[in-house]
Amino acid sequence: MSDQTLNPFKIAQQQLDMAAEKLRLEPGLHEVLRWPMRELHTHFPVRMDDGTTKVFHGFRVQYNDARGPCKGGLRFHPSETIDTVRALAAWMTWKTALLDLPLGGGKGGVVCNPKELSTTEKERVCRGYIDQVGRILGLTKDVPAPDVYTNPQDMAWMMDEYEKITGYHEPGVITGKPLPLGGSAGRGDATARGGIFTVREAAKVLGLNTQGSTCAIQGFGNAGQFAATLAQEILGSKVVAISDSRGGIYNEKGMDAQKLVDFKLKTGKVAGFDGAEEISNEEILELDVDVLYPSALENVITKDNANNIKAKIVAELANGPTTPEADDILFRNGVFDIPDFLCNAGGVTVSYFECVQNAYNYYWEVEDVHQRLDKKMTRAFHDVYSMQKKHNVHMRMAAYMVAIERVAEVMKLRGWV
Ligand code: GLU
Repeated sequence: MSDQTLNPFKIAQQQLDMAAEKLRLEPGLHEVLRWPMRELHTHFPVRMDDGTTKVFHGFRVQYNDARGPCKGGLRFHPSETIDTVRALAAWMTWKTALLDLPLGGGKGGVVCNPKELSTTEKERVCRGYIDQVGRILGLTKDVPAPDVYTNPQDMAWMMDEYEKITGYHEPGVITGKPLPLGGSAGRGDATARGGIFTVREAAKVLGLNTQGSTCAIQGFGNAGQFAATLAQEILGSKVVAISDSRGGIYNEKGMDAQKLVDFKLKTGKVAGFDGAEEISNEEILELDVDVLYPSALENVITKDNANNIKAKIVAELANGPTTPEADDILFRNGVFDIPDFLCNAGGVTVSYFECVQNAYNYYWEVEDVHQRLDKKMTRAFHDVYSMQKKHNVHMRMAAYMVAIERVAEVMKLRGWV
């Protein structure tokens, strides 16, 4: 990434620095929190379908495990970099602390384009990654999960590879598994559902009625698709715009969320959906809607477009969609931003429930999962909201302040600082 102001790790450090200043954090403690505690880089061979061998480059970053085993997803992306993974691992540390889960933060990545891999090649990439990284994973060490371009089937292959190496069953070594292999009910839509709960709470404190409200969703992968159906179902919202990497669509009357998902699953894109006009990925961010859900990748709301954001609430289902300069602009303009590591924390929360169920070898009903998720998300939202009221800062800063205090407390108790 050439523009260093958009380097996600620099951004993560900058966000931390600003919160550390507000909290008057001791310099030594602050410095420890600026860096990942451990990282593993691997360059592993994979046999391709045509018989040739290719080397894949991957990472696993264990950012901080003071509060418990590291936890965080694994991304397959052609432009993956160690700095992106570091930033995401830092955000996982704040996310698990904010939700008060007994976990630390980690993240992994493999530089690859899964759209160009056959199913058997993808399986060998998953297994090859675990052959190298498995040695630092485990229920009590570090637990991966799905993220951008990885899915439950990938988690199943990875769990199987890990168990083959260790020689015993340990389903809790990875979460987001398929249900018959020890996955949790309710994990599939957990990121979006958790985000919708935070929007519901935000609407309450802002005095907005969500029935008949409008929303736009930028990014239509797992999180974006469930955000559409659940915004309609839980909030009574009208989905007026959707985009994916191939373009966007708009219909001011609202579109049926399930039909949109079915269309996307059938055609691989949203463009061409019946009765909608085409708009660009940039235009969707600037629509005059009640709620905007950035649900794709980092750095889409920057100083260049932040002044044009008209949504009342920005609900960050993606990790890192807003830069620090944009945060200040949104705050000044009265846009209520629900930061990523609060808004999208439903995924890791149900991942934690999955680990708990695996450890008990006893599985909960989906209603129980929803209820427990709601309680966790609602409490985290109000912890952050109280902090923002107290200090008159934006929600991201408040979320950092809550999370850092929790991580700092256990580091002191352990005697690390
Ligand atoms: N990848 C998701 C995240 O960024 C989920 C992580 C997990 O379940 O461990 O929060």
